[in-house]
Amino acid sequence: GDVVLDVKDLTVSFPTEEGLVRAVSNLTYQARLGRTLAIVGESGSGKSVSSMAVLGLHNMKRTRITGSIMLDGEQLVGASRSTFQRIRSDKVAMVFQDPQSSLHPFYKIGDQIAEAYRTHHKVSRAVASKRAVEMLDLVGIPNPQRRAKQYPHEFSGGMRQRAMIALGLVNNPKLLIADEPTTALDVTVQAQILDLINDLRKEFGSAVVLITHDLAVVAETADDIVVMYAGRGVEKGDAKEVLARPAHPYTYGLLQSLPSHSEELEELKAIKGAPPSLLNLPPGCSFHPRCAFKDLVGERCWTELPEWRPAPGINNRLIRCHLEDPVGTIAADEEASR
Ligand code: SF4
Ligand code: MG
Repeated sequence: GDVVLDVKDLTVSFPTEEGLVRAVSNLTYQARLGRTLAIVGESGSGKSVSSMAVLGLHNMKRTRITGSIMLDGEQLVGASRSTFQRIRSDKVAMVFQDPQSSLHPFYKIGDQIAEAYRTHHKVSRAVASKRAVEMLDLVGIPNPQRRAKQYPHEFSGGMRQRAMIALGLVNNPKLLIADEPTTALDVTVQAQILDLINDLRKEFGSAVVLITHDLAVVAETADDIVVMYAGRGVEKGDAKEVLARPAHPYTYGLLQSLPSHSEELEELKAIKGAPPSLLNLPPGCSFHPRCAFKDLVGERCWTELPEWRPAPGINNRLIRCHLEDPVGTIAADEEASR
């Protein structure tokens, strides 16, 4: 599909009392129509910050943004508040973990969707209300006619999430950004919401950027993946292939810590250590303090930042790691740990 969102060398930093926080460093990715791109990482990896910059939801005075964010041909780095308002109402829809953040508590659900529709379509209230009911129906809300007249607090968590998606999609945006959209929901509802996002992507043909820490969610929904660590991309490629055959030690570590990977929960291998402070990134590869393979490389791991390069032996895969044979090294380790 066509590239809708083209992010190049995006760097986002905030000055604080203790110094400059580099939340995102030189991040590059593209989201295409009809495809889902997953941006994956632990909390504090910069995955949400990068999308806040796309949506213009950062603190515009204090945040320093460099690089390029092209959305549907429009440059968003340095764009005005009104530009962001416009793109949020007709080009990008957002779904967050907490639907309360985009649904207004004091207005009926149907009225909120109808009003959003009327900002872009010269139609009567009655026509817009009908459209709102259709959208609620489309996202799988039963009795949409009656539900449209209710307030957000009358909806369950999963239903509110559906309503937020209906609100986001009423103007047929080219891009849907979903930031941990299912984290607060129970497992059954999670699966339903992911199915819904998948179906809508097919129906509307929009691009989806899915931000998550949950690799099980990625496996279910994503076409493409960017794995982030400490504000930088470390591995990119086809989502299913990356999950099946990781080529970066950090991605491998994340996969090892998935519950489905080991029978007993106690055997679960989390990656040792914690992500670094974004105030003070380790020199060289930011992952080196936690990496189990750094001794295979030695000094370069803590002195030289790895550049993007194709992973040897795999098509369509980019990594930032100094290992000579990352795929083979990881496969051997996996074999040994069975
Ligand atoms: Fe590990 Fe070195 Fe690769 Fe970083 S560059 S992931 S420290 S092996
Ligand atoms: Mg987040």
